Amino acid sequence: MRLRNVKGSRERIEGDDYVFTEPNEMKGRWHEVFENDHPLQIEVGMGKGKFIHELAALHPEINFLGIEKYSSVLVRALDKRPELATDNLYFIRMDAEEICDVFAEGEVDRIYLNFSDPWPKDRHAKRRLTSREFLARYDKFLKKGGVIEFKTDNRDLFDFSLEEAKEAGWTLDLVTYDLHHSTFAEGNIMTEYEERFSSKGNPICKLVMHRDQ
Ligand code: SAM
Repeated sequence: MRLRNVKGSRERIEGDDYVFTEPNEMKGRWHEVFENDHPLQIEVGMGKGKFIHELAALHPEINFLGIEKYSSVLVRALDKRPELATDNLYFIRMDAEEICDVFAEGEVDRIYLNFSDPWPKDRHAKRRLTSREFLARYDKFLKKGGVIEFKTDNRDLFDFSLEEAKEAGWTLDLVTYDLHHSTFAEGNIMTEYEERFSSKGNPICKLVMHRDQ
């Protein structure tokens, strides 16, 4: 993703009630933020947040956290926040490499990974959000029976993710190489990148997986 520095974004985020910049402090206590015990779902690498806003509006009975590494991108999600009538969406600015410091065992019910950066060089494979290293992190705080949903138009990244899932002992519940023309298209919420790439004719791949333990 090409990043444009948005002037003042860091300062704006630091002072916003909907953003956590020291999320470690909330580990095991996220329900206190939402003031309820609803299930918690997170999107890692949410970008400008279109997907998670629409999901939160549709599901007031679920709590959502959007995670994004860059302030310049996160402010775009924050700009949309006032349009949301529900109080079930907050944001975290962090590098997902530190994600185990932020969630306690069994605290998260579902993880969304949408159009994650592909990191095409082999030596950067560990940085891919579906690498075995990241799957091991998610496993530490995903509730028993919880799932990961992953969408991408990048076939190499998708094939890599399927391999990593197998290696790490995850069970695939759904695999499609053309989501929009499949029986799973109904109810699909498009992300910013999904709109961009599907309008160019790229098929969208999706997988859903869980771990039996
Ligand atoms: N999910 C959005 C979508 O589908 O439109 C954005 C996709 S964009 C290609 C990937 C996003 O993930 C970027 O905003 C990037 O900054 C963020 N990201 C990448 N690596 C990350 C990490 N380690 N921790 C947090 N965010 C990350």
